[in-house]
Amino acid sequence: MAANILIVEDEESILELIAINLHQAGFNPIRSLNAEYAETLIREALPDLIILDWMLPGMSGVEFAKRVRGNPNTKKIPIIMLTAKSDESNKLKGLDTGADDYMTKPFSPKELIARIKAVLRRKSPELVDEPISIKGLALDPNKHLLQYNNKTITIGPTEFKLLNFFMKNPDRVFSRNQILDKIWGNKSDIDDRTVDVHIKRLRDTLKISGQESLIKTIRGIGYRLSKD
Ligand code: CA
Repeated sequence: MAANILIVEDEESILELIAINLHQAGFNPIRSLNAEYAETLIREALPDLIILDWMLPGMSGVEFAKRVRGNPNTKKIPIIMLTAKSDESNKLKGLDTGADDYMTKPFSPKELIARIKAVLRRKSPELVDEPISIKGLALDPNKHLLQYNNKTITIGPTEFKLLNFFMKNPDRVFSRNQILDKIWGNKSDIDDRTVDVHIKRLRDTLKISGQESLIKTIRGIGYRLSKD
């Protein structure tokens, strides 16, 4: 599940540099050379994060950020603002408009990727596909690999998604509906019992590691993964 990241930047070389680095980091870059086209793109599909240049021809980055924040459909999309060194004094104004973070040009692409991951980890942890370990179980979403004490465990695709979701959100209770929404995208032809079926399969899969009780049933509410 690669995060869609919209880049709004009028300097083509910088736009390309960012897009290539995002792609290499496992993200899906979407390019726009101006704010007006970016608005059209957002109407078609909501991105998971926006990288936004401060100085743009036509509508400025600040104005665009305000419009994104002012629209109930888009107000929660994280924004990382790019500013030139000379705009230094504008940084605070940038954060005022609702940017979650900002970077000063020239920046290292590596640092930008780190900032993106930090913002996503905070706002949408399910979109950051990094290896996670809990209680000797190591899950690597990119390699689609589950191991226990370095031994590979065979696991079905849905159970893998479920485990990935729970490991990224430990110690939080989720209702069956929330789980359906996260794993199946809330398809109406799937009912709550589907969740129970896959939780059972996941527990069976985890028996080999002695972690069949990793996912707890919270009576009347749903399920939770306990880290301790
Ligand atoms: Ca610019």
